Amino acid sequence: MKNRWLLTGVVTLATIATLAPAAQAGSSAKSTQTALPSAANPSSARSDAVPVTYRVKTKDPVVFITIDDGIVTSQAALDYVRKHKIPITSFLTSSQVTDSRVRYFERISRWGSIQNHTTTHASLDTSNATLIKNQICPVQVDYRRTFGTKPWMMRPPYGAGPRGATLAAVAARCKITDIVMWDAVVENGRFGTWNGGPLVKGSIILLHYTGTLATDLKVAVSVARAQGLRPADLADYLTPPEK
Ligand SMILES: [Zn+2]
Repeated sequence: MKNRWLLTGVVTLATIATLAPAAQAGSSAKSTQTALPSAANPSSARSDAVPVTYRVKTKDPVVFITIDDGIVTSQAALDYVRKHKIPITSFLTSSQVTDSRVRYFERISRWGSIQNHTTTHASLDTSNATLIKNQICPVQVDYRRTFGTKPWMMRPPYGAGPRGATLAAVAARCKITDIVMWDAVVENGRFGTWNGGPLVKGSIILLHYTGTLATDLKVAVSVARAQGLRPADLADYLTPPEK
């Protein structure tokens, strides 16, 4: 699992490092390892069954802080979130949600929500419907039992294959109504966006549950504030499924 997270870290840092020069050079801002939208249509793209959102379309001066995986639980990060009541959308991998961590994730997500980031962090960039189903559906049941609410957003590990037809079909069957990507990253205190530009209204910022999370959160909030933006709850801006 640790190796899997490291791979995620490599991908996101590579994204930061490679995209900024590309954008400056005026060439296409496309990552080789994560699926990102074209510069012409950054907001969202509809797959067959489930919308894929990289950035929320809104006129409100808001951004969305999302935190992935769940490998490390930082008390300093929790203290910071509670002090400022920051809405956090946690995309948790269920294999990381051990009994001793449940309360932590509930607390840090108190002003946001807990959503689906698969059972074991396998890549969903595949047409193997059984693999995808086993990665998504059990989490729905698990989190409903553990946290009291069933997820309806899902983020694919490594950002891989969000527009896959099989993924869209299986996600819909598992009652996922939004596949959530991102357009900005903070990692190890470094901020970057996929196109090298600033945060904008509706930006979705990716962080991870790591030892540097408190610093990463402070960076995300201060970069947002510098643009006149404030963190808001993603669940208020995407459409939940009908009850
Ligand atoms: Zn992940």
